[in-house]
Amino acid sequence: MRFDLITVFPEFFTGPLEHGIVRRAREAELIDVHVQDLREFTKDRHRTVDDRPFGGGEGMVLKPEPLFEAVESLLGHRVGDAAAQTAPDPRTAIVLMSAAGKLFDQERAQRYAHFNRVVLICGRYEGVDERVAEHLATEEISIGDFVLSGGELPALLVLDAVTRLIPGALGNEASSQNESFGARQDLRGKAEIESQLASHESRVTGHMLLDFPHYTRPAEYRGWKVPGILMGGNHAEVAKWRRAAAIEKTRRNRPDLLSAE
Ligand code: SAH
Repeated sequence: MRFDLITVFPEFFTGPLEHGIVRRAREAELIDVHVQDLREFTKDRHRTVDDRPFGGGEGMVLKPEPLFEAVESLLGHRVGDAAAQTAPDPRTAIVLMSAAGKLFDQERAQRYAHFNRVVLICGRYEGVDERVAEHLATEEISIGDFVLSGGELPALLVLDAVTRLIPGALGNEASSQNESFGARQDLRGKAEIESQLASHESRVTGHMLLDFPHYTRPAEYRGWKVPGILMGGNHAEVAKWRRAAAIEKTRRNRPDLLSAE
């Protein structure tokens, strides 16, 4: 899987790609990360990537030409033209990072993990000429309902979330399955649901749960004890406790995940 990060701040990525799972995945050649300086695709002496907005208003807007040319040079072929529509490659995502995009989530991360190539376009200033979203990017993605000053952190976040889903990237293969948002769960049984949900359904299907709480040594810290079941060695009881705790935590922190569809 290859990631291309298109940015006006290539140095931004130096630190974050050199730690933990992402670093190991690069070393193991599970992922290849290429950082592309957008300014290499400018033609003027000042290497201009932005310009004033049509219609007036604050700030500067990233121009379309360097972005189209950067992506086309990376992919080795032309991507779009008003006259000739080219079909996008189904194994390549061209992702525009944008506060006005669709929300990034674990399901989308899982989809990207099956691609050969993910090109991440980092906006800056007031944003990016809309023709990039319309005719160059295959998707426009937001990492949350807040506005950042650039697309570099969002792109890193997507890269991280996708990388850890690539087989072999995590030390323990099982671990990405039991995590928060790992898989949709069927919550069965009247008691399980009635005790955990303020819902009238007797069986609620297709919900994502947050991860269960984790504990490690010491068994007692400042008077706070680790739940006894976790130390009892009864695997079935532990599994039951974890499931109930995951449901309770989801109800507490993210009731939206549990509300009946
Ligand atoms: N004027 C824009 C914000 C521009 S912020 C608006 O109101 O929607 C500058 C750049 O930061 C954007 O082009 C985008 O690439 C990035 N960015 C900011 N917030 C983001 C978010 N929540 N998700 C993804 N990218 C974001």
